[in-house]
Amino acid sequence: MNFDLKILKWNEQGLIPAIVQEYDSREVLMLAYMNEEALTKTLSSKVAHYYSRSRKELWKKGETSGNFQFVKELTYDCDADTILLKVNQVGVACHTGSKTCFFNTIPLELNEEPETNIKKTQLNILDDLYEVIKYRKGNPLEGSYTSYLFEKGIDKILKKVGEETSEVIIGAKNNDESELVYEISDLVYHLLVLMVNQNVTLDTIEQELKKRRS
Ligand code: AMP
Ligand code: ZN
Ligand code: ZN
Ligand code: ZN
Repeated sequence: MNFDLKILKWNEQGLIPAIVQEYDSREVLMLAYMNEEALTKTLSSKVAHYYSRSRKELWKKGETSGNFQFVKELTYDCDADTILLKVNQVGVACHTGSKTCFFNTIPLELNEEPETNIKKTQLNILDDLYEVIKYRKGNPLEGSYTSYLFEKGIDKILKKVGEETSEVIIGAKNNDESELVYEISDLVYHLLVLMVNQNVTLDTIEQELKKRRS
């Protein structure tokens, strides 16, 4: 069966936005643009190709990172101005190392105290890190410290939590702010690894903390 590319509504630059979704998890991974060549290549190879607006050239996703996208399903929307690709994603979709490009939250409560909004942003960094760690648990990577911890198991993780706790104490006693910040970050990371390992979510912790406040 041959698909007539003219059915699609290409914009003035000859491009069409393509939403990319992970086939199994249904997570939205990224947005990119295709030109006719990119869509033709995608159709013939079943590997996602886009048009890079910054480089102004055909872009085979994963060409440099190895994070290819194998296309399982292709659809376009009601008015034919957007394509949806459902893919099997190798590694992560975002060039920052995040699984999905959509990790920046715009707070919905715009009339809140600015301070509260800052807290929300910080929590989202934790959320994102949690997701990356969880992904590493399910997809071990050679040379990844997180994978190494999961491979060693709970005793190693607990040992690290203990060590980092001591280092936080030493950092505080030394009155060295940058050392303390560094050690607290280490501790938070290892606590997140522990949480992922024990299937404790950040939501659970948030609920528990909220319960205590009221
Ligand atoms: P890749 O196609 O994954 O080998 O990445 C090659 C380059 O494309 C990266 O260095 C980024 O500049 C860019 N890139 C990759 N993935 C994304 C993305 N999800 N969103 C925006 N730019 C990306
Ligand atoms: Zn539309
Ligand atoms: Zn991205
Ligand atoms: Zn992006």
